Amino acid sequence: MIILVINAGSSSLKFTLFDMDDDKKVLANGLIERIGIEGTSMKYQNHKGEKFQEPVPVKNAREGVKLATDFLTDPKRGVLSKLEDINAIGHRIVHGMEKISKPVTVTPEVKEVLKEGSLLAPLHNPHNLVGIEACEAVLPGVPNVGVFDTAFHSTMPPRAYLYGLPYELYENDHIRRYGFHGTSHAYVSGIAAKLDGRPAKDLRIITAHLGNGASITAVRGGESVDTSMGLTPLEGVIMGTRSGDIDPAIVIHLMKTKNLTPGDMDNLLNKKSGVLGLGGIGSSDLRDIEEAANKGNAKCALALDIYAYRIKKYIGSYMAALGGLDILVFTAGAGENSNTLRASVLNGLEGLGFKLDPEKNNVRSPEPRVISAPDSPVKVMVIPTNEELAIAEFTASVLKK
Ligand code: ADP
Repeated sequence: MIILVINAGSSSLKFTLFDMDDDKKVLANGLIERIGIEGTSMKYQNHKGEKFQEPVPVKNAREGVKLATDFLTDPKRGVLSKLEDINAIGHRIVHGMEKISKPVTVTPEVKEVLKEGSLLAPLHNPHNLVGIEACEAVLPGVPNVGVFDTAFHSTMPPRAYLYGLPYELYENDHIRRYGFHGTSHAYVSGIAAKLDGRPAKDLRIITAHLGNGASITAVRGGESVDTSMGLTPLEGVIMGTRSGDIDPAIVIHLMKTKNLTPGDMDNLLNKKSGVLGLGGIGSSDLRDIEEAANKGNAKCALALDIYAYRIKKYIGSYMAALGGLDILVFTAGAGENSNTLRASVLNGLEGLGFKLDPEKNNVRSPEPRVISAPDSPVKVMVIPTNEELAIAEFTASVLKK
């Protein structure tokens, strides 16, 4: 089964082609950036390791999908003899509201949900929909499957998803916690259970997805029971440029005293805060913050300390929510690569059952692995996430049904 995975953003289109019958091999992948802006370019790589990067005349998603398929079937750099070889297309979609709780074949009803979700994810859902419609136009007859970031968290109980606000705001205005990064949390918690060997239904797992965006999820018996992101991806731990949890009165105070508009607040909290705002060196990349801290930059050292402390607090609270813990998983850019971050998060948590093996923690590897000591009551794992592969797997499972 050949599956094309599409991640359509506001000005970018990412695509990956998988052969699910050949060990889920990546046949080719590519990224078109700056779509509709000057300087549009395409990076493309096929399984022979041939790489291409060139300016491309792409004005919209439809032209992007057309170009991607031209590359995939090109006699020289392509990997398919004909487009009909593609069995299905899996789309990364951000918001499924309360209506979509699992990967689904895209129908007119599903598109309506996507449109409704645009209200809560205005920067993502409209572009995801454009990506689907582009595929319908360029690859007619090939089924499109939607894989939603919010879907994995649809199992959260009301006590986890409701805010302490008037109930009507939930009923009438859909104000609740939804959670994001669901595809990644589902994928890494599944691999963790396999690596562990005990039945997934008995396991209590916390997954810490720490990339540019970051979220922590409590998983019981393979289901999300709580997660740190809320109505939007702004809630939760501190991120690259997002504040994470703050006292909501700060928003009111700043709007009043500094005359800030909703747009200003949005920009401040989503784009200027987090380690970018705390570190003050103009970078949101944890590698830069770590480097500056190592050279003696006190603000960056503090930013790292706060970043790790907030993660630690979420781990503690989710251990309480789960009534204990069997496995903690680190994943995504910083979770997979920063041994110092992992050590700092777990520093002082021996009393809660975390015993890190420093040597294992320092090993760099693309493989899922255990980094705790054999006698650690809680197993600590690093599981590289792979959202594209997870989307391809979900798409294949929908197709088989
Ligand atoms: P996204 O959230 O955009 O999918 P990733 O999961 O790839 O991003 O994470 C990217 C982030 O991971 C970078 O901005 C950086 O902060 C962090 N990161 C990547 N490698 C390292 C590393 N070796 N040490 C510390 N942080 C890292």
